Amino acid sequence: MEKKNIDWGNLGFGYIPTDKRFVSNYKDGAWDEGCLTSDANVVISECAGVLQYAQTCFEGLKAYTTEDGHIVVFRPDLNADRMIASAERLEIPVFPKERFIDAVEQVVAANEAYVPPFGSGATLYLRPFMFGSNPVIGVKPATEYQFRIFATPVGPYFKGGVKPLTIRVSDLDRAAPHGTGHIKAGLNYAMSLYNIVDAHNCGFDENMYLDAATHTKVEETGGANFIFVTKDGKVVTPKSNTILPSITRRSLMVVAKDYLGLEVEEREIFVSELGDMAECGLCGTAAVISPVGKIVDHGKEICLPSHECYGSCNSETLRHSHRHSDGQNPCSRRLDKSY
Ligand SMILES: *Cc1c(COP(=O)(O)O)cnc(C)c1O
Repeated sequence: MEKKNIDWGNLGFGYIPTDKRFVSNYKDGAWDEGCLTSDANVVISECAGVLQYAQTCFEGLKAYTTEDGHIVVFRPDLNADRMIASAERLEIPVFPKERFIDAVEQVVAANEAYVPPFGSGATLYLRPFMFGSNPVIGVKPATEYQFRIFATPVGPYFKGGVKPLTIRVSDLDRAAPHGTGHIKAGLNYAMSLYNIVDAHNCGFDENMYLDAATHTKVEETGGANFIFVTKDGKVVTPKSNTILPSITRRSLMVVAKDYLGLEVEEREIFVSELGDMAECGLCGTAAVISPVGKIVDHGKEICLPSHECYGSCNSETLRHSHRHSDGQNPCSRRLDKSY
């Protein structure tokens, strides 16, 4: 199989259309057989349920080339399960698990030329998603849906290699108690866009969301879970039913406990405890494991000691670590806003 002529080592996290994607449509109470298509465009009614009331959910997983040249996909069964949970919560008809896995395999096989080679640092990102496609104007679930999986080769989500991230404790919330924080819905992202743009304008890489009810407990960022190592060597991760159950995080906890013999704990983590942490990382399919060097809680800087080698923790480093700095400080202006 001849690979596409792509500069694998310099790919960012962007969309590059590939040759084939899988499409299945739901109508009259059933999913059709589905097929691979080369048409990257979706044509739907202006009144489609997804466009009016955001009835859509998605997944994200990656295909990798192994050292001996095989192509593997990481835990597609767990993505299938999670998409079923998302669909049920959004009144979207379930796309069966075996069919989900089969469609993933078809898309990877049809786009083999786009699976980055071993060691390139790039992967083939797969994006399954479902949406209400027929007209809906009164508020109710659509009666027709599309399930689709496309593939796109990607490099790192965070620019700049393993440079530790600087994140801020957010004043805005991402998920309400008993809301939709635990499912992979586009709506959870739409409402986080304002906050991530603001974070970037203020020189931060990400937002650390807290529990909406008390604002005392760590939840996750807009698109990745947290994993911490305490100063006494325990691997801890927040327990909450309003965070997205990351497959990467769940896998890391298994590796830490069963393969590395580390002590692990899933429990509530209070912001007031962050100073007791030795390490902090973001984890997710897109985020991989990205180290966090500093957490800023309303001007109070919490430095993660394991990253001290990257520079002393003072406002000078903070200023220089701004990825999006243009020499201005739009933050002071925007922070005048009250919510
Ligand atoms: C997708 C996602 C994650 C990461 O989950 P993985 O299964 O590890 O990719 C974390 N948080 C949110 C909000 C997500 O949407």
